Amino acid sequence: MFISNSFGLTVKAKNFLSINTPKDLSKLDIIQDNSILILGACTNVILNKDLTKTIVQVNFKDIKIYEDYLSVGGGLNWADLIEYCLNNSLYGLENLTHIPGSVGAAPVQNIGAYGVEVSSFIHSVECFNLLSQQQETIERDQCRFEYRNSIFKSKNYIILKVNFIFSKTFEPDLSYPALANYLKHNSIDAKSLTPKLLSESIKNLRNSRLPDPNLDPNVGSIFKNPLVKTNDFDRNFLIGHRWEQGNGVTKLSAARLIELIKPELSIPETLRIYEHHSLVLINNGEATFNDVKNLLDQIGVKIFNKFNIELEIEPEIISS
Ligand SMILES: Cc1cc2nc3c(=O)[nH]c(=O)nc-3n(C[C@H](O)[C@H](O)[C@H](O)COP(=O)(O)OP(=O)(O)OC[C@H]3O[C@@H](n4cnc5c(N)ncnc54)[C@H](O)[C@@H]3O)c2cc1C
Repeated sequence: MFISNSFGLTVKAKNFLSINTPKDLSKLDIIQDNSILILGACTNVILNKDLTKTIVQVNFKDIKIYEDYLSVGGGLNWADLIEYCLNNSLYGLENLTHIPGSVGAAPVQNIGAYGVEVSSFIHSVECFNLLSQQQETIERDQCRFEYRNSIFKSKNYIILKVNFIFSKTFEPDLSYPALANYLKHNSIDAKSLTPKLLSESIKNLRNSRLPDPNLDPNVGSIFKNPLVKTNDFDRNFLIGHRWEQGNGVTKLSAARLIELIKPELSIPETLRIYEHHSLVLINNGEATFNDVKNLLDQIGVKIFNKFNIELEIEPEIISS
């Protein structure tokens, strides 16, 4: 069967297991752990053309309200959860509006945007542990959430449900400069801001900066913004494109680094770096897995040689 993905690569898989009920988990017994590939909506993966592993996809989409948290099935669209929260006075996720993908994938790279990370709203994550072959609940402080990272990157867990805690009062985080500028430019002041207006503003902001994968196939940011030791770099290096994190750590703009080496790149016709955001790679059509891999390697090497900075690829590169 063909696997649809937001980068528009032609991908075929031989074996597919859809987890629709807890009973389906028993079917995992007969598959070796290292032959399982867990996929959600495929908006953050670069896939090779013939996948040999068994694709496992979680299809629980239910939302249940408990006293302490909201339990959400891993197969639900992230956009549907945002909509649900806006309609039910559950506050906090507004800045994460319009991020494509599924709820189950959100904790994996601790999705974040406009100064907010999903980990701030996670109570616990219900998983199937592929090593112990048991279901377990992992509390937030055991999830090892960091910038675009978590324990779930280990590939040992299938996320079945994510349990969220939300604010009961609307206390928006408007500190991110691009968001603050947007609100100012559109004469929206903090006092008149509602959750729906904030969510709508984020959507407009994203649409003005990021390409629509349906028109320009992409996976969002292709590299993580590198975290470096502040003292290793001149304080004027990448000025305006760096964010001090405290504790002697600085986050640098990967987009800016790519802009600086872009003239030296040899980019195949099948790919292009998005005109309005250098961190987004677009499939012009007919791009292959190797086209993408080679270009990412080329970018990584050039940036390392020029600035002594190692870039980390953000989407998962899946070769088999
Ligand atoms: C236009 C665009 C904009 C984007 N903007 C942002 C952004 O602002 N911030 C951001 O953080 N990300 C962003 N992304 C990346 C992407 O949307 C997120 O990473 C999203 O959470 C991926 O969801 P998915 O269901 O498509 O996961 P997939 O791409 O299918 O999988 C991603 C990873 O999660 C694992 N995974 C998926 N489901 C499960 C599960 N149930 N259990 C265990 N592991 C699982 C997969 O094995 C894989 O490693 C963007 C992508 C696009 C295309």
